[in-house]
Amino acid sequence: MDKNKLALHGGKPVRDTFLAYGRQWIDDEDIEAVINTLKSDYLTTGPTILQFEKAVAEFVGAKYAVTFSSGTAALHAACFAAGIKEKDQVITTPMTFAASSNCILYVGGQPVFADIDPRTYNISPKSILTQITEKTKAIIAVDFTGQPADYDEIISIARNSGIIVIADGAHSLGATYKDEKVGSLADMTMFSFHPVKHITTGEGGMITTNNENYYEKLLLFRGHGITRDPQKLSKNNEPWYYEMQDLGYNYRMTDIQAALGLSQMKKLNTFVEKRRGLAMKYNKAFEELDAIITPFQQHDRYSSWHLYIIRINSKKLSTNRNEIFGALQAENIGVNVHYIPVYLHPYYQKLGYKKHLCPNAERIYSEIITLPLYSKMSERDLDDVITGVKKVISYYSIE
Ligand SMILES: *Cc1c(COP(=O)(O)O)cnc(C)c1O
Repeated sequence: MDKNKLALHGGKPVRDTFLAYGRQWIDDEDIEAVINTLKSDYLTTGPTILQFEKAVAEFVGAKYAVTFSSGTAALHAACFAAGIKEKDQVITTPMTFAASSNCILYVGGQPVFADIDPRTYNISPKSILTQITEKTKAIIAVDFTGQPADYDEIISIARNSGIIVIADGAHSLGATYKDEKVGSLADMTMFSFHPVKHITTGEGGMITTNNENYYEKLLLFRGHGITRDPQKLSKNNEPWYYEMQDLGYNYRMTDIQAALGLSQMKKLNTFVEKRRGLAMKYNKAFEELDAIITPFQQHDRYSSWHLYIIRINSKKLSTNRNEIFGALQAENIGVNVHYIPVYLHPYYQKLGYKKHLCPNAERIYSEIITLPLYSKMSERDLDDVITGVKKVISYYSIE
C-alpha cells in the first residue's frame, strides 16, 4: 500500500491507536498521597488544603493562595472579590475557554471583548485601550497556550484608570514574564488543575494574590459567605456563633484532591521542562514547512507550553484548516482547536454580540490546529505527530 495515501482517503493511518491532545501524569507517589489522605481524619477542610495552597503560593511568589473546586469557580470568586457588579464592564479576550468570560456574567457584569495580537494570539493592549469606558471595572487577561500576556502594558493601562487586573493562568503555571513567575503579576491569578493542565487534582482551581483584602473575600466566597472569625462578627455571642455575611457558594476543594495537587507540585518543573522540550522539537520539525506557521514567542517570556498550536498558511495549500484537521484525525492524531471565539457561541449571540467583533481572533481561529502536547507524551508519540503533519501537509501543498 502507498504509505503516502492519506488515511482520510483509505490509506493506512500513521498510528494504529488514537493519540489524545492532552492527558494527566499520575505516578505511584501521587496514588500513595491520595490513599494516605483517605486514611486520615480529614477528607475536606483539613490540613492538606493549606499545604497545597502554601506550595503553590511559594512556587509563584505570591503571599496568598485559595483553592477552589474548579478553575471556573476560582474565576467566579475573583470576580466577586474584585467587586464586579451589575452594569460593570470587564474586558477580556475572545480567544479563550468560555469560563474566562462566563465568570463576568455570573456576577452580573458585561463582558467586553478586545481583539488579539495576531503574533502571540494574546489579548492586545492596543485593542484594550479602545474598549475602556467609565464602566470598565476589570481586565481578565489569558496567558494563551502558556505564553504570558503583555502585563506591563496591561497593568499600566489599568493603573491609570483604577481597573483591577485578573490573570487567567490556566495555561501558564510555571511560565515567567521578564523573569517573574505568573501568579503575582496581576492583582489575582487563576490556575486550573483539570487533567489536561500542568498539574492536576481531577477538578480544581486556585487564586493567588498579594492582596489581603482579596484573600479574605475569596475565603468567604468559597464557604457560603460564612465567617467564624470573632473579629469579623457583628456581635460576639456564644462560642458556636457564626455569621453568613455575603452570598457565597460551596466551592471547596477536598483534601483528597489537595493531596494529589501537593504531590504533583513536586514534579511541576519537570512537567514544564518536558512540555518545553517537546515544543522545541515540533518547532524544529516544522521549520522548513512553508505551509505551517509555528508559535511566535516573545523573547522576554518563558512559556509553560500548555498548548502547541500551528497555523495553516492557506496560500501554500490547496485546502483549508477544516480538511487538514479531518485528515490529521483520520491519521489517529488527536488534534483540537483552541478556541472558538467566545462571543460566537449561540448563548453570546443571543446576548447580542455580533460576528466580526474581533477580526484577528476570527481569522486566526479559522487557521489554527492544536497538536498533542503533554508531559507523558513519548518520543514515539511525538514522531507520529510530526510524521502525520508532514504527510498531510505535503499532500495538500502547492508550489
Ligand atoms: C481550563 C481553563 C479554564 C477553566 O478551568 P476549569 O478548572 O476547567 O474550570 C479557564 N480558562 C482557561 C483558559 C482554561 O484553559
